[in-house]
Amino acid sequence: MKTFEKIKSDTFYFDSCDGCEAKCCDGRYGSLFAQIILEDFKEVSEYFPILFIYGELGYLKPVILLTNGNSLCKYNKDFKCTIYENRPSICRNYPLSAHLDNSIYIDKSCPALQSNNGSKIIENEKILNDFNTYDFNNYQEKYINMHIYFDKFNKEENLKPIIFLNNVMFYSFRNSFDDYYINLQMNSLKNLDKYYNI
Ligand code: SF4
Ligand code: SF4
Repeated sequence: MKTFEKIKSDTFYFDSCDGCEAKCCDGRYGSLFAQIILEDFKEVSEYFPILFIYGELGYLKPVILLTNGNSLCKYNKDFKCTIYENRPSICRNYPLSAHLDNSIYIDKSCPALQSNNGSKIIENEKILNDFNTYDFNNYQEKYINMHIYFDKFNKEENLKPIIFLNNVMFYSFRNSFDDYYINLQMNSLKNLDKYYNI
C-alpha cells in the first residue's frame, strides 16, 4: 500500500523500476483514482474517464479513474506504461506528490527509492529539475482555483451518479453548459469501458 509522507530535509534517489511489478499502477495496492487540477484536463481526457467525487465539505473534486480497483491500469502491459509520454501528471510525479499546503509528499513504499543510488530526485525539500512538474509550482493556488471553478456548477440536479467502486460514488455532469472543462469531462466518458466493470 502507498504510504505518502511529508518530505522534511531528506535526500532521495530514484534507482530503477526493473523488477518491480508496477505497484504504483495497481488498484490492488490502492491506485483507484487520482485528483486532478484544471491544467490536467485536456491531456487526461484522451485516456481516462474524468469523474467527480464530493469532498468532506461538499466541494466537487475532479478525479481520473486510474483502475477498476482489482487490477493494473489498463495502459500497463508487462509492468510497463504504454502511454509513458502522455501519462497523467500524477504518474509523472510519482513517487512524489504535490499537496494542498504546498509541501511535497513521497511514497516511501516505492522500491526504486534509495538513499544513495540512482538519480537524485529531491534534496533539502527541493525537487531536482528533471523531476519537477507544473504541479509543484504553487499547487495550493491551482487547487483552490479548481474548486472555485466547479463550485458555480455544484448543484445536485447538474450531476448524475455513474459508478460505485470501493465504496466511492463517482459522478458526471448531465450537460456541458458550453463550458470548456465540463465538455472535456463529458467527452472523457468515452474511456469508461468494460475494464471499469461497467
Ligand atoms: S515507480 Fe516505484 S512502485 Fe512504480 S513501478 Fe517503479 S519501482 Fe515500482
Ligand atoms: S498511465 Fe501509465 S504510469 Fe499511470 S497508472 Fe497507467 S500504466 Fe501506470
